[in-house]
Amino acid sequence: MNKFAVAAFKCDTYEPQKVAEALTDLLDHIGGLGAYVRPGQKILIKPNLLSPRPPETAVTTHPALIMAIAEAIKKQGALPFIGDSPGGFGVLERIEQLWEVTGMKQAAAASGATLVNFEKSRVKELEISFGKKKIKIPVAACVLEDFDVVINVPKFKTHDLTITTGAIKNMFGVMPGLTKIRFHKLAPKKETMSELLVALFAQVIPQLNIMDGIIGMEGEGPGSSGTPINTGFLLAAENALALDIVQASIMGISLSKVPVIVSAVKAGLGPKTMAEVELRGVLLEELKPAKFVLPPGGSLTEKIPDFLVPLVSYIARMIRLTNPVVNDELCTRCQVCVNSCPVKAINNYQGKIRINYKECIECFCCIELCPARAMTIKKSRLLKLAEKKG
Ligand code: SF4
Ligand code: SF4
Repeated sequence: MNKFAVAAFKCDTYEPQKVAEALTDLLDHIGGLGAYVRPGQKILIKPNLLSPRPPETAVTTHPALIMAIAEAIKKQGALPFIGDSPGGFGVLERIEQLWEVTGMKQAAAASGATLVNFEKSRVKELEISFGKKKIKIPVAACVLEDFDVVINVPKFKTHDLTITTGAIKNMFGVMPGLTKIRFHKLAPKKETMSELLVALFAQVIPQLNIMDGIIGMEGEGPGSSGTPINTGFLLAAENALALDIVQASIMGISLSKVPVIVSAVKAGLGPKTMAEVELRGVLLEELKPAKFVLPPGGSLTEKIPDFLVPLVSYIARMIRLTNPVVNDELCTRCQVCVNSCPVKAINNYQGKIRINYKECIECFCCIELCPARAMTIKKSRLLKLAEKKG
């Protein structure tokens, strides 16, 4: 059986020289960068730039890795570009600030890469199958038309809704503007959202995926409510699903509990299990942290058999085992959550942010996008009890 190769290399620092060396060693396990990049080509590096958070918060792909990739591309005689569309209201108009805060501006200047603003790109509508319907998804046309190769550079992170966010989900950022949030309304459950992510991914498959796991995120990821964790490695693979399977295995999550992986396997996008993956460079056991905290939804589903997951997820939604809550002391009234909630369930009432739980669809966009760690998940007593028993 031909296995899907995933390279791993240990690296516990963002010191630029060390990251550059680690990147070379990492890519050597899958044929080197020259196997993907030819002289004269235009190469898009697609980091995870979820929101304007500094690199040490682990919300975004670290600029030291982006810089190392851009420099390596230049050494191949090709031209590096860096682009992503962030999530949330208010960021799109301040893309320069996003680039500055996340370190992308400095990474581009130091490596000679060009920053690409997806929001200014022409939009191309892709028709995708979603359930029994065909729907149109807008994508930044430049991603499809202007580059010879796309290198996808996700961050090793948990996700409150989809449990993990890895290589497949990172390509959601090719959808410009606030459309991303509107799609949460169309696909409110983690299973339907995952189907949508996979259907989009299948139209924009990158040629190479490199995951930033030097400092990853555990707990209530993927935004500022998550907790940075020293994971100490880089991963790379041609096949995004193989990379996401390795990520979930490192986190200690059953693949059947990660809906993006379930949907991608169903769509035939790569390996079905870890047995179909060849991990090169480092043993899986050596990559696993001593302890890794899953998001609340993940820690619940991990404890129950697969056949009960749909029922438990349904009940969890009905009785609301998890709710977003605002910490008034931390809240800066920036309005990002108010303007980003896909169902308009958040209001600014007499100077305080309030959530209408009757409207809330538990997409957790507000937690993902709150810049002040003021929005977090409140677990119900029942969920806390279930976690203790487990
Ligand atoms: S909860 Fe967060 S996103 Fe919402 S207004 Fe307060 S600081 Fe802004
Ligand atoms: S309140 Fe938060 S979790 Fe609920 S629908 Fe709005 S953004 Fe999503």
